[in-house]
Amino acid sequence: MSSTVGPFSGFSQPFEHLRTSDTLREERIRLLYYNLPSSIGISALLLVLIIFVFNSVIVHERLYGWFASLGLVLSGRVLFYLYWKKYRTDAVKSPDWLFWFRFGAIITGIVWGVGGVVLTPPESLSHKIYISFVVGGLGAGAAITMAVDRVSVNSYLLSILVPLIVFLFTEGDKMSLGMATMMTLFLLFLLSSAKQLRLQFEENCNLRYQALESAQQFRQMLESSPIAARIADAETNQVLFANSSYITLIESTPDEVLGVVTTAYYPCADVYADMMHKLCHGGQVTNELVELRSPDANGWVKWVLASYIAVEYEDKSAVLGWFYDITDRKIMEEEVEKMAYYDVLTGLPNRSLFFDRLKQALIKADRDKQLVGLLFLDLDKFKPVNDQYGHHVGDMLLKAVSERICSCLRRKTDSVSRIGGDEFVILLPTLTTIEDGLKIGEKIREELNQPFVVDSKILEVSSSIGIAVYPTHADDEHELIKSADIAMYYAKADGRNRTNVYYEAMVR
Ligand code: GH3
Ligand code: MG
Repeated sequence: MSSTVGPFSGFSQPFEHLRTSDTLREERIRLLYYNLPSSIGISALLLVLIIFVFNSVIVHERLYGWFASLGLVLSGRVLFYLYWKKYRTDAVKSPDWLFWFRFGAIITGIVWGVGGVVLTPPESLSHKIYISFVVGGLGAGAAITMAVDRVSVNSYLLSILVPLIVFLFTEGDKMSLGMATMMTLFLLFLLSSAKQLRLQFEENCNLRYQALESAQQFRQMLESSPIAARIADAETNQVLFANSSYITLIESTPDEVLGVVTTAYYPCADVYADMMHKLCHGGQVTNELVELRSPDANGWVKWVLASYIAVEYEDKSAVLGWFYDITDRKIMEEEVEKMAYYDVLTGLPNRSLFFDRLKQALIKADRDKQLVGLLFLDLDKFKPVNDQYGHHVGDMLLKAVSERICSCLRRKTDSVSRIGGDEFVILLPTLTTIEDGLKIGEKIREELNQPFVVDSKILEVSSSIGIAVYPTHADDEHELIKSADIAMYYAKADGRNRTNVYYEAMVR
């Protein structure tokens, strides 16, 4: 993905352990113990080197006495480290571990500090310089590895360097005074550097904690959002996170929703692929009308306005999707549309839709050099049915009539519309001859002559049908309707229950 949104990076929770109010202390303990093995290792190495270098210039009792003391302290710290490592999960939470670390650091510093004094032969400048380098080097290392804890680093630096500085000052010679001054400045520099490092560490911890907090707030906001939200893996498309609104939207449960491949909800696979393509190329996908379906195909269908953004979630490239459910609105729109174009009683197309279809049929007929037949049908003496049995029986009869007309037509091409009370028009857009139109008209008329059983009553109706054909009888749709209408009136006038084809001599 070319671009991702930041706040989610916190979702991966790399700083889970920073959550409590003891954040800083826990992180401090973790880092101090983490650096401990290298500090002990270097101390041990230097200890061996000192024994080697000072073996010939220092009294053995003193040298090995100091060696034993430091060896003991370092061994104690090794044991302590191993113990911490074993119980580190609990250890990191206990303030006691900080106390014991500090205690170990101070004791080590004191032993090194004492060593700096007792191992320095007053008459040997080179050994003085060597021990100053060792002690200074240890101090520099500690200023980095222990910087996170003020008490540890300061007490270690003071206890390791101050005894040697004092010792060198008391020596009195110029060289020792110079070295003591230089060591003092070095000590101040180390203290100040350690302080800077500690402040940076604290700032860093705070920033990470704030990042975690804002990620958590964002997650809470997502979880409680009334708009459905879902995060899916950008590569596998599996759902990684879903809020409760999403679970409600897709009529699922928290256990069932995670891990499902998102494409299963999209009846049209291209919709999801297009969205991913746009996101991968840095584009945006906002408020797109999308149809979601239950993966088992027999369940729900939802219409949503979907927006997607690329995010990082649990260290993975992911896609956050927002889904605003507009299913109710869509159903309402469809109903309104239906009411605008369909007859509520019979469900047949109404006058508007019929007119539209007629226009299209004439355009196509011009192009394909075909005929278009139009049958205008009006039931005979329908009013008395209403009068005798009531309006509701009349309604039922109209429905039954519409069904019977449909049964006489070819579903794919022909269509019937109800354009008035008991008036129907039948559109035959691919008529070959006028005679064929007449045959269909007659078929319908005869079919309607068969008795209807409505509301346990046997009803008999007939119909008068007028037929006009485009372009034989009319130049446009208005003229065609008018011609068919006239032909129908002639059928009425001729005694009803008949089918008349329009001819020019019919009076308009
Ligand atoms: P004609 O043979 O001359 O066609 O006479 P008719 O009785 O069929 O009457 P006409 O076609 O002139 O009028 C249609 C009647 O259909 C008028 C009205 O009472 C009735 N009607 C119109 N709309 C509805 C409807 O939605 N439901 C019902 N039940 N009757 C309707
Ligand atoms: Mg009528």
